[in-house]
Amino acid sequence: MSDTDPTVPGWYEATRVASPDRPRLNFDLDVDVCVVGAGLAGLTAAREIALRGWSVAVLEADRVGWAASGRNTGFVLPGFGAGIDDIVERVGLDHAKQLWALSEQGLDYVQRTIADNALAGVDPTPGWLHVSKTDNAGELASLVERLRWIGADVETWPKERVREVLPNPRYFDAVHYRSAFHIHPLNYALGLAALAERAGARIFEGTPAVTLDAAGVRKRIGTPNGMVRAGHVVLAGNFHLGALMPRLAATLLPVSTYVMVTEPIAGLADGVRYRGAVSDTNRADNHYRIVGGDRLQWSGRMRAWQAAPGWIGRGLAADIRRNFPALGKIEIAHLWRGTLGRTIHRMPQVGEIERGVWLASGFGGHGLNTSAMGGELVARGLVDNDQSWRLFAPYELVWAGGRLGSVLAQGIYWGSRPIERVEHGLARYRERARNRRQQRLALKALAKQPSAPPPDSPSSEPDHTAAE
Ligand SMILES: Cc1cc2nc3c(=O)[nH]c(=O)nc-3n(C[C@H](O)[C@H](O)[C@H](O)COP(=O)(O)OP(=O)(O)OC[C@H]3O[C@@H](n4cnc5c(N)ncnc54)[C@H](O)[C@@H]3O)c2cc1C
Repeated sequence: MSDTDPTVPGWYEATRVASPDRPRLNFDLDVDVCVVGAGLAGLTAAREIALRGWSVAVLEADRVGWAASGRNTGFVLPGFGAGIDDIVERVGLDHAKQLWALSEQGLDYVQRTIADNALAGVDPTPGWLHVSKTDNAGELASLVERLRWIGADVETWPKERVREVLPNPRYFDAVHYRSAFHIHPLNYALGLAALAERAGARIFEGTPAVTLDAAGVRKRIGTPNGMVRAGHVVLAGNFHLGALMPRLAATLLPVSTYVMVTEPIAGLADGVRYRGAVSDTNRADNHYRIVGGDRLQWSGRMRAWQAAPGWIGRGLAADIRRNFPALGKIEIAHLWRGTLGRTIHRMPQVGEIERGVWLASGFGGHGLNTSAMGGELVARGLVDNDQSWRLFAPYELVWAGGRLGSVLAQGIYWGSRPIERVEHGLARYRERARNRRQQRLALKALAKQPSAPPPDSPSSEPDHTAAE
């Protein structure tokens, strides 16, 4: 493994666009809005507020996009972390449709921002295939119907079409999300920061907000070397807000997953023919895509605490070999860890939590569209008095369980892996049995028709299970 530091998103750093170092704040400043956090949520909010003509200062403890926003898997998807059925059950069908439309607006925002400004190095590539490893075509068809009802642009891909582009006998049908795409997330964050500055926002790096006095009409945000006074504060610090707002941070469960990028693979274009993003579980594992033309990016191995990178890397490489043995030996070029902040209900936290204090947080593992949506909703709410953010009111701030919550999340993830493996094995067993039955029937039919071609002639259907 050439890149052993799990704190650095090596591939993204190796391919990042040039961006300036921003100064620390070392003086006092008066602005209309102070944004805490220069991840995607904070940067979107800052840009949108500045575009509306208000003065904005962004305080970033570290560097623009260093956290989840610049080290994630890069899938820009519609929807939320919570499944559509859970959302409908909680808020009802009409309300769920409105929420889904907002999630699509977030996706559109990212797409438009990249296209309208020709953002360099972001490389949006269309499509997301969510592949099933069980033969549940009926369930998928019904899910697609429900998703279409809610407003999603989705279609079912039968297993033959899936296996044509992803030659993996473990794969069955898939849901294809046509509006989804994948990007280089660090370059998007850096591009967004430049656009926010172009709109008039000022970004200060290496500047943690250490105190917040939100009592007065003018809020006071303390940093080590300067004070910001602002009419409004936007808290976009994800779970890193801990020291500043411990009770708010306690509503998020920090969950780490790993992302790996391989060395170039000679036969990758044949081995993985789909160019969009792929996920083959509902869990944190096996989200992958091709990057740099001939490398595979693969993510998974959720951990609620830190783990040895060498061991994680070997596990991810084994996942690739199990799914695509034809790719041969997998050499790891980069491996890094990223931590996201997940709410208990898996929906974002967006809105005004007390007079003049706004929150854009809790985007979980579904944050590329929802952080854009959240940032824009906060800007619209704050400047235009638009009340759309209230659609998230049913999702309150709920304590995430502290350390106990982390242990439970890890236990649920580990518990689901063996169950899924058994389900996947059964699906393939059922498929083999079905194929054998069909072959027996075909042979019987042939025996009755002596002039028919033999079963191994080129005109017969390929046996998709032959590689097993
Ligand atoms: C490994 C991984 C893979 C993922 N894959 C995907 C994916 O494929 N698709 C998807 O949609 N989502 C994905 N996500 C989730 C997505 O990356 C996040 O939901 C999103 O980036 C969150 O953005 P954010 O701006 O809220 O937070 P962050 O990116 O965490 O940014 C918060 C910022 O606030 C700063 N900050 C915090 N407190 C303070 C303070 N007191 N003072 C100053 N600054 C402060 C931090 O330094 C940080 O820079 C993934 C996440 C991870 C970790």
